[in-house]
Amino acid sequence: MQKQLKAFSLLFYELFSFHRILLSVLMSVPLSISIAQPNLDLTDHTKISAKPIYVKQHHIHAFLPKDSEPIDDSSPSPDEDVLKDEIDTDISNETSTHEHIVSKGDAFSTILHQYDVEQVDIRQLIKIDIEMHHLQVGQKLSWTLNEGHQIEHLIWERSQSEKRYYDRTKEGFKVSILFGTGELYQKITKVVVNGSFINSAKFSGLNSQEIREVITALQWQIDFRKLHDGDYFEILTMHATLNGAKQHSDLLGVRFCNVSQDYYAIRAADGKFYDRNGSGLTSGFMRFPTFRKYRVSSPFNPRRKNPITGRIAPHKGVDFAVPIGTPVLSIGNGEVIVSTFSDTAGNYIAIRHGRQYMTRYMHLKTLFVKKGQKVKRGEYIALSGNTGRSTGPHIHFETWINNQAVNPLTARLPSMACLTGKELLVYLTRVKKVLFQLHKE
Ligand SMILES: [Zn+2]
Repeated sequence: MQKQLKAFSLLFYELFSFHRILLSVLMSVPLSISIAQPNLDLTDHTKISAKPIYVKQHHIHAFLPKDSEPIDDSSPSPDEDVLKDEIDTDISNETSTHEHIVSKGDAFSTILHQYDVEQVDIRQLIKIDIEMHHLQVGQKLSWTLNEGHQIEHLIWERSQSEKRYYDRTKEGFKVSILFGTGELYQKITKVVVNGSFINSAKFSGLNSQEIREVITALQWQIDFRKLHDGDYFEILTMHATLNGAKQHSDLLGVRFCNVSQDYYAIRAADGKFYDRNGSGLTSGFMRFPTFRKYRVSSPFNPRRKNPITGRIAPHKGVDFAVPIGTPVLSIGNGEVIVSTFSDTAGNYIAIRHGRQYMTRYMHLKTLFVKKGQKVKRGEYIALSGNTGRSTGPHIHFETWINNQAVNPLTARLPSMACLTGKELLVYLTRVKKVLFQLHKE
């Protein structure tokens, strides 16, 4: 039945929209119940009484959105796109646990919203702790999500002497606050590369979270897959204890040295990393993969429901209705990791930016870049099209952060910020102290 339905759907897109509407109006064909429960296990030969359901016209339209993809379609899994290395498998597979250091301009709701946490949870947490409205730069939030994208636990590290816990219970969130005597101390760790970076870092005593921070800070300057034995890192971290027990540690600065050059990333008071002169470490991202903004024909929606089957069919990207042949641009500097044809996505491209970010562009007509090629922000990568399973000319565009699809229209992406004025002066004073530590060894 599924197959028949798919074949039927395919036939359906190929009709001109006028005929499609006409057909929809005429349609009163009963569809079998097995569509409603496509996961039924039929192997035990149990008799299933088929009850007809009637598909109304607006349902058919929802099933076949215009200038988008059919709702029952899933795009290729990014697992096949991204060549996994040990950093991915060792470090970033904890997709349900997230942490975020508050930086300038962050608000509690926007931080969680971009990780696609349920709005109800965000509202409830703010309701029970109104102080959530006053996050301070440098504070740390960490949380665990369940399968329904609801928060199970959230920890707000407000200072070295106060930590707040929020745990999901049947009656709502339970808050507990831990006060104590906090202490801070700094530590320098030297990591000499010998074989893999992860093993070298672990050997030197860094934990997974610290390793992740080093990778994040230096992701725009060095490729962690291309290090050489003998290259080394000097890593300055700040450690907090509460009532004598170890709490979190923060990366303050890191220096990477290979035979030809030194690279630095130093954290400013805004929580972000800059180079020694206060310039941002990335050239930033554009919001749209086209020169101008086009109409959104289907928004990002991780909880989209197929109106007929009732199943969750997430839309992991945003669809822009663009005429065939429109230039498609890479939204940031990166490396092409996929440039190929797939039955569902048509001609498509995936680009990896640094280590944390990935963008994907689908249903293209002509591809201009090859796998392995480096691209710049704003570079032409393709012409838009209507290839693969598509119900009209459009670009399906995805943004992934830490292996999770996020809303491309609202995701917080690194910007080309530079520090200026008073902030720069404060930063340069800090840089002097950090550099002194990083060169001590
Ligand atoms: Zn789409």
